[in-house]
Amino acid sequence: MIPATRSRVLNRLPSASLLAHVSSKLGRMPCQRFLSTAWLKDSARLTAPPTISRAMSTVKAGVMPDVVSKPLKADLDPSKLTITLTKTPKSPPPPEQLGFGAVMSDHMLVCEYNPESGWSAPSIQPYAPISLDPACAIFHYTPSVFEGMKAFVGPDGKPRLFRPDLNMARMERSTDRVSLPHFDKDALLVLIKKLVAVDAHWIPPMRGYSMYIRPTLIGTRASLSVASSTSALLYVILSPSGPYFPTGFKPISLISMWDTARTWPGGTGAYKLGINYTPCFKPQEEAYSKGYQQILWLLGDERRITEAGQMNFFAVVQRDDGDIDLITPPLDGTILPGVTRSSVLSLASSHSPTSPLPGLPPTQRIHAHERTITISELQAHHARGALLEAFGVGTAAIICPIDRIGYEGVDMVMPVNEGLGKVGKAMWDEIVAIQEGLKPSEWSVTCE
Ligand SMILES: *Cc1c(COP(=O)(O)O)cnc(C)c1O
Repeated sequence: MIPATRSRVLNRLPSASLLAHVSSKLGRMPCQRFLSTAWLKDSARLTAPPTISRAMSTVKAGVMPDVVSKPLKADLDPSKLTITLTKTPKSPPPPEQLGFGAVMSDHMLVCEYNPESGWSAPSIQPYAPISLDPACAIFHYTPSVFEGMKAFVGPDGKPRLFRPDLNMARMERSTDRVSLPHFDKDALLVLIKKLVAVDAHWIPPMRGYSMYIRPTLIGTRASLSVASSTSALLYVILSPSGPYFPTGFKPISLISMWDTARTWPGGTGAYKLGINYTPCFKPQEEAYSKGYQQILWLLGDERRITEAGQMNFFAVVQRDDGDIDLITPPLDGTILPGVTRSSVLSLASSHSPTSPLPGLPPTQRIHAHERTITISELQAHHARGALLEAFGVGTAAIICPIDRIGYEGVDMVMPVNEGLGKVGKAMWDEIVAIQEGLKPSEWSVTCE
């Protein structure tokens, strides 16, 4: 990094000292090459922070950027965190009254991005309404990114997160997809841990209970012009939640839909964006009115399965050789890359005679496949009695068994013993044990 000369790189021809510096780094004289895109990219990699290197990578060969003489933008900085505790703490409701998402804890994390100064000092402050200009982008073109993760209390009393690095990486990709200001994802994780630690007493210390964490990033540029929002508000709120299945596993029913799409090739279905959800509300009501709880989203002429409601879809199929196939659609841009999905795939591959998953025959292999599965393939497995289980997976339910899938007026009815099949149950047991700190794993991260 050579901060003193960085603005010059962007503004004008490189200074002699910068050229000397860069050429020594590159081991060659830039000479005539310094205006080429390749040179700009090389030098950006060596000297500029990510925001600037992005600007430079769009520079056409032989053209210098117009004016980028703004002061350096500050990134999210946990060392600048201020904590203001509420003077009127609420009492958490009795655990048995907790559903999902209705009750918020006492505090929230807030940080604003302003195009002139970058990210403000982050603040943990009393939970309260926010005030925004009615012209803000979020109210019109809806740039909105979110994440969903959970904190659990371990036997040591410490709150812990489950694979939060995957949530942060996904949030970074979602942010980029809607052109909102980037942020340091590791810094955000540090801040989230601090927030959870401040409100840790809101997590009921009982099995199955957790604190749902909702990091949110919205575009706040106060202008009706149709362009990316150069201002943003990042906040994180916490909602203590009860078990998804308070009285034992309850399988859900799905109705297949293909005339409306949750996602499509080239669309945004692989990102956690608010805009992906609203268009699903009406089809969801339709499903409900037909007597099904959620939708099995099919896509394309071949009617391939994408997701189950807002969960990733898995089918468990008996093989002729006695092993099991575990099939989920591939991350082809139409599928949300779920943390639970990724965990189920890893656990399936780890199942072996030496480290079997709970309740599964150690010698029976689970072959995990990320591949296209069409509704007619699913029907064929079902017709020959080989479809052992189908389930949706996601942070909220972890594993949600499916007992009925409606397609073209006919119901495929799945056998579900005790609510959840053997493979689903093994996954659920293993993931919950790791989340709640009962089984040591690098997937579980404590908040100090
Ligand atoms: C969040 C989400 C999932 C599940 O992702 P997890 O990281 O496992 O919670 C699956 N599908 C959609 C559409 C989602 O929004």
